Amino acid sequence: MNPLAQLDQQFVWHPFTQMRDWLRREPIVITSGQGAVLRDVHGKEYLDANSSIWTNLHGHSHPKINSAITRQLGKISHSSALGFANEPASLLAARLVQAANIYDLRFTIYAPTSQRARKSRIVNRKLEKVFFSDDGSTALEVALKLAYQFTLRTRGAEAKPKFLSLTGAYHGDTIGAVSLGHIDLFHKAYGGMLFKTDQVMSPYCYRCPFNRAKPERADARNYRKCNWECVSLVEKKFSAQKKKGNPYAAFVFEPLMQGAAGMIAQPVGWLPQVTEIARSHAALLIADEVMTGLGRTNAKLKIQKSKNFLFASQEENVSPDFLCLAKGLTGGYLPMAATLTTQKVFDAFLGEYDEFKTFFHGHSFTGNQLGAAASLASLEILQSVKSVRQRAALQKNLHDDLQTLWSLPNVGDIRQVGLVAGIELVKNWRTREPFALRERAGIRVCEAMAKRGVLTRPIGNVIAILPPYCTTRTQLSKMISALAESIAECFRQPTNKKHRQK
Ligand SMILES: *Cc1c(COP(=O)(O)O)cnc(C)c1O
Repeated sequence: MNPLAQLDQQFVWHPFTQMRDWLRREPIVITSGQGAVLRDVHGKEYLDANSSIWTNLHGHSHPKINSAITRQLGKISHSSALGFANEPASLLAARLVQAANIYDLRFTIYAPTSQRARKSRIVNRKLEKVFFSDDGSTALEVALKLAYQFTLRTRGAEAKPKFLSLTGAYHGDTIGAVSLGHIDLFHKAYGGMLFKTDQVMSPYCYRCPFNRAKPERADARNYRKCNWECVSLVEKKFSAQKKKGNPYAAFVFEPLMQGAAGMIAQPVGWLPQVTEIARSHAALLIADEVMTGLGRTNAKLKIQKSKNFLFASQEENVSPDFLCLAKGLTGGYLPMAATLTTQKVFDAFLGEYDEFKTFFHGHSFTGNQLGAAASLASLEILQSVKSVRQRAALQKNLHDDLQTLWSLPNVGDIRQVGLVAGIELVKNWRTREPFALRERAGIRVCEAMAKRGVLTRPIGNVIAILPPYCTTRTQLSKMISALAESIAECFRQPTNKKHRQK
């Protein structure tokens, strides 16, 4: 065994990993990366089909990000945000605020509000302040604590702020973030440590009890037969909580697609409807864009670079009170996160020193210069015409390539939003019968893909594909054909000719 692999097995404890399984075989030791390619210690190359767990946006070793980090390294790597401002963090905050406040009011409006009402709402809810932290979990903790305090200050100290999130929600692994989560497999173990939050049905069309459509070879969102019962349930949930005399303080959601829940894509129109309901019950909106943000879900790309939405909530014209960013913020190079919020929330924390209205929260590396420099470079790339064109083409190619998977009987649903796709594996597409978790269907398929030089990680029975934005046409077809071959191999279906690698 490679000596580094040996050291790993002797000393390293891996996240979300059954270490007994881990110790059974030699781990892949990554030593370098270039674009969408990762190279291991034996010189074997792999395609990074999930952008290194959804973090990497522009590929590895991008010259612009590398040189931004190197340039910053020549000045200073880190000084504290406790007491001092710094150059890249100030610039980054301004850039993020600018990018977060672009809306196109001409979009279809699903909720029963006039354009003017929507506009005034958006203007009133401009995101104007940025709180930096380290990762997705802390970005959510910040939003949670701010929303909690804000509610106490606006509703009175005796208020008991309560949060509503979605079924299957995952918002990170710190205790506050876990409290918002509703994935039993991950979260049940910590039950005794958590505070109580409520959950409401998320629009999982493929497995929705209200969807009366028979399975088809298409994304379930597009052939569903329902009456938006999921939206009515949201309304009911808010009304019931209001009747208890304690309306929800905040509604927490991933816009357009719930990632770790299993790439659950929302039908167009769901988000504006439910956020309008939340608004009408005076709840704050916390948008967790840790996965969806920064170009990942762009559906309506325009060549005009200043008009491009970098965030999923903008796609549906939803203006949250909190916007949480992490994973891809630095282009996926360094751990850094940001929570954007409104002037109104900010103002609730202003006061004389001894009123102690201060936001008592922070991290040693808040506003880190290297991370901020990398983020600035990443934003610059994201907003370039070249990147916009590249993403638009990649998105279309991803769509086309994914269609070839419908010929596999173990593919039940394919959910694509921009540059994210979730492929749900089933025993039989005609019945939607799922694999039991212990069958490790997703894990087996990903292991078979790794043998073919393509790396990704499953979420239960869902294979996640999130290519880095620099992925070439050939690399993308290799990712999808490796997936097709692996599915066929794992479930012993004859390989369809179409999926053979070219
Ligand atoms: C990954 C993720 C988190 C947690 O981020 P970490 O950086 O792993 O702490 C939170 N929310 C969403 C939607 C995520 O995908």
